[in-house]
Amino acid sequence: MEPPDEADCCNSGCNPCILDVYEAQLRKYQKLGREKSGAVNALNPTSYTVFVLTGRKKINESVFFYTFKYADCRERQPNCLDYKPGQYFLLRGRDPQGEFTRAYTPIPVPQNASLEFTVLVRLYDTGRMSQLFKTMQVGGETSWRGPYGEFAPDYAHKFLVFIAQGTGIAPLYALIRDIVVHNEECESFVKLFFCVRNCDDILLRDELYELGSFWNFNYEVFCNNCDQNVAKYHETIHNKKMSFCDLENYVQGKLGQVQVMISGSETFGREIKEIIDRLGIESSHVYVF
Ligand SMILES: Cc1cc2nc3c(=O)[nH]c(=O)nc-3n(C[C@H](O)[C@H](O)[C@H](O)COP(=O)(O)OP(=O)(O)OC[C@H]3O[C@@H](n4cnc5c(N)ncnc54)[C@H](O)[C@@H]3O)c2cc1C
Repeated sequence: MEPPDEADCCNSGCNPCILDVYEAQLRKYQKLGREKSGAVNALNPTSYTVFVLTGRKKINESVFFYTFKYADCRERQPNCLDYKPGQYFLLRGRDPQGEFTRAYTPIPVPQNASLEFTVLVRLYDTGRMSQLFKTMQVGGETSWRGPYGEFAPDYAHKFLVFIAQGTGIAPLYALIRDIVVHNEECESFVKLFFCVRNCDDILLRDELYELGSFWNFNYEVFCNNCDQNVAKYHETIHNKKMSFCDLENYVQGKLGQVQVMISGSETFGREIKEIIDRLGIESSHVYVF
């Protein structure tokens, strides 16, 4: 494993910093004592890899799918793009203020070609990386490193509860899909509470609907400002903000058998965690992305 150059650290407080990642990886590798045979991953947590933008698709006024394909020239060509559902990658940006990174979570898209990945991105008017996304051209080069984040749901829990806000759905969708589509051994019930601003913001709507056909998954949407009077697919859509009572109704009688995964803005994570604490769910059974 090649050590990163000191200059690879952009000194902008990235989490995780490339130098810390290298140390952690080195310790892991030394402990393992051998390199995984055969597989050459297109991504690396300790150095940047070039991917070109191959497609951009509008979902609503501010959210887009962006698809990237491996385009680096290395001696050892990669043969896989290896990451676990729910993990994230860091994209490097450069602007007049300097270098910086932002995290994005790849979502499973069956149509993706080999060594290709797709992220669901919300663009903010004043966001630094958002400005770069807005001007990205198909064929344009970008630099990514990863994957990061180690979380796997514990199937010992009978009820896996996912609570998402906005693009926070990305890691949760990746995990839910993996559980219900690929993991036949999982006998847990999977519930998603999805909190959105309006109906246009029900991201990955077709994908969630499709997952709804699996016996162990269903979802409810909480929409602050429901502007469509019918649910597109007879989904359960509540025209209100999710409250303590909504979660209480679901977890009643299930305490001790529930694991909760929360993903959204920092404020959302804090608010929902407070509700979960009040419900009496043990902190070790709660994971905030
Ligand atoms: C582990 C992890 C995974 C992530 N995965 C994704 C993902 O899959 N898709 C995705 O779109 N984002 C994801 N994010 C968020 C992403 O990393 C950036 O923070 C986001 O794209 C904004 O970056 P920016 O540089 O455009 O905005 P910044 O320059 O960081 O922010 C500038 C301004 O934009 C606005 N803004 C930025 N973030 C928010 C917010 N969350 N809510 C409201 N206003 C905001 C605010 O006005 C803020 O002052 C993830 C973050 C983490 C930590």
